Amino acid sequence: MGNTYIQHLKNKAILKKLILLPLMAILLFACEVEKDDAQEEIEYEAPEPIVEEYGYILNDFQVVRDTIQSGDTFGDILDVNGVTADKILEVAHKFKDSFDVRRIMVGKPYVLLNSKEEPHTTQIFIYETNAAEYAVVDFRDSVNCYTDSKPVIYEERVAAGIITSSLSQTMEDNNLSPAMTDKLAKIFAWTVNFFKLQEGDNFKVVYTEKFINDTIPAGVEEIKAAYFEHNGNPIYSFNYEYDTIHNKFEYYDEKADNLKKAFLKAPVAFSRISSRYNLNRRIAYYGYKVRPHKGTDFAAPLGTPILATSNGTVINSEYRGGNGNYVKIRHNGTYETQYLHMKKRNVRVGQKVTQGDVIGWIGMTGNSGGPHVCYRFWKNGKQVDPFKQDLPLSTPLSKGLQKDYFAYIAPLKDKLDCIPY
Ligand SMILES: [Zn+2]
Repeated sequence: MGNTYIQHLKNKAILKKLILLPLMAILLFACEVEKDDAQEEIEYEAPEPIVEEYGYILNDFQVVRDTIQSGDTFGDILDVNGVTADKILEVAHKFKDSFDVRRIMVGKPYVLLNSKEEPHTTQIFIYETNAAEYAVVDFRDSVNCYTDSKPVIYEERVAAGIITSSLSQTMEDNNLSPAMTDKLAKIFAWTVNFFKLQEGDNFKVVYTEKFINDTIPAGVEEIKAAYFEHNGNPIYSFNYEYDTIHNKFEYYDEKADNLKKAFLKAPVAFSRISSRYNLNRRIAYYGYKVRPHKGTDFAAPLGTPILATSNGTVINSEYRGGNGNYVKIRHNGTYETQYLHMKKRNVRVGQKVTQGDVIGWIGMTGNSGGPHVCYRFWKNGKQVDPFKQDLPLSTPLSKGLQKDYFAYIAPLKDKLDCIPY
């Protein structure tokens, strides 16, 4: 009896351990497990035991790789490699449309697939027009010529960074491409003041990278999910296909709200505010008299593009007095925006513009001490401070799609959370 009781206690202890251990393991390795899952999701083509390239089994040939040198001609290269003059002429005449042999360029790589036997006559000539596309001339039997492209794959990657000085500098420090900076700036243009980034602000991304032939990187294809922490405020964004028929994607946050606002935070992508909307501004030049400033000045280098902060119609585009070159846009019955001191205007009166369109370039025309755009925000015909307005959001994700959306983003959000800095 006593033994059984002790045994019972032991069993209980073992049971407890058995329950606790896996629980701890799950807690400890939650992120690790996620990573493994991510590995499995990565698409790749298994390496072939036989070397196949350009659609040919390279093992069957003597392979010569070279680049076009100055003075090389298509005829010379193939003549040296035993191709008869009439076959060379045939290519030049018959296949001018798919491959113009006179337009081979110095520095471009080419491959000769020669017969393995002496005298190693060229069977196939491959010329790389660019990193992905190539032209093939097959001299076996009757001459055949065609163009093709290398297989493209997309690999899922993750990255993270902590802002030290600028976003682009952080990208550089983390070996990430400038394209990533542009893509992130675009995703968060409505929610993050990129001209007010602070040390310690940080980001994480889950993205796909394009690879040609498994190995040649061809740039960031898509940011699937991103996280940006600005001033201690976390913002998530997920690229979601809200219209599968028309292939339309949009970034939404973890609550399915659209990251886009009806207005951009600033009319310049990267700039700093040099003067705020201030009705009590006093200026030394005017003897410290009150000279209200009804705009917000964004300083940026001369020639920086100025963007329409929302969709609308251009109602003014002219040069006038202190405004210099300026543009004014009517967005709806309530809002208008105005952009002053442009070096050059890019829109005409009556023209429809979309949020983010370049409407002109930073200048210092009119009354302007230095290169900047004075951004004026009109509400019901009065100039107001855009930073004090509760500006409308653009359309959120429809209710019917939200269940699917939350299921889609759950693993992506875990993945983001698990990316180490
Ligand atoms: Zn101003």
